[in-house]
Amino acid sequence: MRQIDHFIAGEFTAGTTGKRFEKRSPLDNTVITSIAEGGKAEVDAAVAAARNAMDGEWGRMPTAQRVDMLYAVADEITRRFDDFVQAEMEDTGQPAHVMEHVFIPRGAANFKVFADVIKNVPTETFQMDTPDGEGALNYGIRVPKGVIGVISPWNAPFLLMTWKVGPALACGNAVIVKPSEETPNTAALLGEVMNAVGVPKGVYNVVNGFGPQSAGEYITRHPGVDAITFTGETRTGTAIMKAAAEGTRDVSFEMGGKNAGIVFADCDFDAAVKGIFRSAFLNSGQVCLGTERVYVERPIFDRFVAALKEMAESVRFGRPRDAGADYGPLISKEHQQKVLSYYAKAVEEGATVVTGGGVPDMSAELAGGNWVQPTIWTGLPETAAVVREEIFGPCCHLRPFDSEAEVVSLANDTDYGLSTTIWTTNLARAHRMAARIDVGITWINSWFLRDLRTAFGGSKQSGIGREGGVHSLEFYTETRNVCIKL
Ligand code: NAD
Repeated sequence: MRQIDHFIAGEFTAGTTGKRFEKRSPLDNTVITSIAEGGKAEVDAAVAAARNAMDGEWGRMPTAQRVDMLYAVADEITRRFDDFVQAEMEDTGQPAHVMEHVFIPRGAANFKVFADVIKNVPTETFQMDTPDGEGALNYGIRVPKGVIGVISPWNAPFLLMTWKVGPALACGNAVIVKPSEETPNTAALLGEVMNAVGVPKGVYNVVNGFGPQSAGEYITRHPGVDAITFTGETRTGTAIMKAAAEGTRDVSFEMGGKNAGIVFADCDFDAAVKGIFRSAFLNSGQVCLGTERVYVERPIFDRFVAALKEMAESVRFGRPRDAGADYGPLISKEHQQKVLSYYAKAVEEGATVVTGGGVPDMSAELAGGNWVQPTIWTGLPETAAVVREEIFGPCCHLRPFDSEAEVVSLANDTDYGLSTTIWTTNLARAHRMAARIDVGITWINSWFLRDLRTAFGGSKQSGIGREGGVHSLEFYTETRNVCIKL
């Protein structure tokens, strides 16, 4: 069984609580990992280590050297690519090809991209007039914010954690990471990488545990943590915001969604079916940017539903490296039960179940895993819980629409505002709609295509702030103004 400990001041340690918890495989629920649970003492130690790093070599390191170090981190991740793929696969049970082509390469890229950003982005300068006619010169200097608490989820663990650790370190901060209790593996491996390339001790720390009354809450409440960046559920964000209010510390939140997919009759039909299929079912539907509401223009509605049904019924369940398997289980038994409760609720609410709605037949050795069928519904009113609440499973509801105005209003009728995907060959309409739909990111004839230099974040209850490219600098640094009288 794998043993995962905290990583504090460059050392792996089980800490002093004496508490450990178990991680079960999503494939069959056998216990595969024992994880140390951190308490206040571990968080105190991590904060002290991070402060020491900021006051020491790391805090004084020239940007060029820091940038080289982050390139070395990315290269070392690439050198240990197979270990990262294996670690993430064990934690999530998702197919190897998703780890190999998306999640692990993106993790490495998160260090390189932000190293480039910090190297190349200038600060502002303003010349001003003064009554004596001599003038004054203002210029900005960027300083790191300090010790950053990074609280991350389980659905794309390495990608989402490094999306925060990369820019935080590029900007010269130190971090304390609390990975999800479901997916501690890659955060621990990253500790080995940091040591291998000589990142000073205390720059990158990991304390494992849960949220309330555990490592998560202790990090977010700790007065020595200067700012908190969080990805996860909206209600967790609310709790973290309350914690951060003490000491008026800054937050950056990437949270839930109930994203709309919009398909016009003039779309490239096959591309739209494939695109919506991916957006609803990739990673077994456990993607914050995924599509759980699909609106299809009436003339192609029946044909679209039939084509999506055919694709959903063609998935092949299996272990991450099983030949031909392209579909994994949900992260935990608890999450499987939550998703299945929505499957039952959909039927109670009067849905037509186009396909799925239950648990697939699995071989005896996998029958204990967290499998659920990809599920498609039609016929529900927009008031149905299944249409309004984030399920975070492999499912979507399809509804026909008749006009652009109608579908914009349907798409916006939600408390969330993370992303949308629009399929049409009428680009004037696509641009018009992109401006009207209240989300942080709109994809047109695509989905999940990410340029890491662009702004990323959610509107309404899907988030606070933007990260990505120069936007990350806004959160991970403070700009000081220097004013010189000439
Ligand atoms: P979660 O909110 O349950 O947990 C996220 C992290 O917060 C975990 O590490 C957890 O231990 C910690 N946590 C929980 N309660 C806490 C507390 N009171 N104080 C401090 N930490 C606490 O989310 P999850 O189930 O791991 O992830 C799924 C959710 O994440 C979905 O809602 C999904 O939409 C969202 N998500 C959003 C994005 C985005 O970019 N907007 C990306 C991925 C996932």
